[in-house]
Amino acid sequence: MSETIALVSDIHAEQEAGYLSALAAALPNETIVPFRSMSAEQRAHARIAIVANPNPADVAALPNLVWVQSLWAGVEQLVAAWPAAGPQIVRLVDEEMSRTMAEAVLAWTYYLQRDMPAYARQQRDCVWYQRAYRKPSAMTVGVLGLGALGTAAAARVAHAGFKIAGWSRSAKEVPEVATFSGDDGLIDMLRISDIVVCLVPLTVHTRSLLNAERLTAMKPGAALINFSRGPVVVTNHLLAALDSGHLSHAVLDVFDEEPLVPGSRLWRHPQVTVLPHISAPTDFKTAAAVIATNIAAYRATGCLPCGVNIARGY
Ligand code: NAP
Repeated sequence: MSETIALVSDIHAEQEAGYLSALAAALPNETIVPFRSMSAEQRAHARIAIVANPNPADVAALPNLVWVQSLWAGVEQLVAAWPAAGPQIVRLVDEEMSRTMAEAVLAWTYYLQRDMPAYARQQRDCVWYQRAYRKPSAMTVGVLGLGALGTAAAARVAHAGFKIAGWSRSAKEVPEVATFSGDDGLIDMLRISDIVVCLVPLTVHTRSLLNAERLTAMKPGAALINFSRGPVVVTNHLLAALDSGHLSHAVLDVFDEEPLVPGSRLWRHPQVTVLPHISAPTDFKTAAAVIATNIAAYRATGCLPCGVNIARGY
């Protein structure tokens, strides 16, 4: 019997079918079977699982797993439930996702630079008032996280003429980016940024990263774009910073609980734009191509693709 690849997911049936057909097309010589349809023998032998919001008990029921390929870029839920000696986790790193995220960061940066939230409020109140134009070259966009997504976003926004600052765990040199690292570096970057874009993974170190102290360190009138994970920002502290007028606006694509609960103040706050986690959706076809490359390399060489550092959390 040829070895089966497990698809362990808890996603909409339609979405799972989309992934299955893209994966089958990209991996014509492999058999990929949803976990629930695998025989006991297939479960006993599978070395690779492709996962999306998997039930940890299902992953644990595949005793021969060597590595799991996530269909998402963010793997905080997997890491949180992962056994110490568990198989290697490989997250999705897809250039198409980086391009999509960079496009979203540029789009919402323009939204803020061109004062669209204020003009929407003016129209609602029938106010004819011309605000001062701010050139991109007079504004600094600070990107938290200079990984696959942050680096692409920084390059795209720099190309549009904005000044760029970037913050990462390890010190870095990135063309056209004023780089910062460490706790002091974070405060320094927040102080100079007109728009802060959050693209760090959610880990024990980044949970509640943007709290009252750090939001207060942001420039008066600055704006926030959070496209990484909700708990990186302390929602009540953000609301207080918006209510006081210290921050002008927040564009939020991610929340502590998703879908955002109906009673949340964020829904109706005039200085908040709520997006339903759409800044960089996974593209079935390009994701399947990336995964096919990883699996083909593993089959050919036995070498595992680059994995998540569980201790670091990303
Ligand atoms: P990545 O390649 O792993 O990059 C992570 C970056 O964050 C790295 O630059 C890393 O620093 C930095 N970082 C991590 N922990 C840090 C800390 N404690 N202090 C300072 N910097 C820290 O991740 P990615 O592919 O760019 O993805 C980032 C996140 O975007 C994902 O984890 C996911 O949560 C989110 N995401 C959201 C969507 C959406 O649709 N909203 C879609 C995809 C992904 P080093 O460079 O020093 O390692």
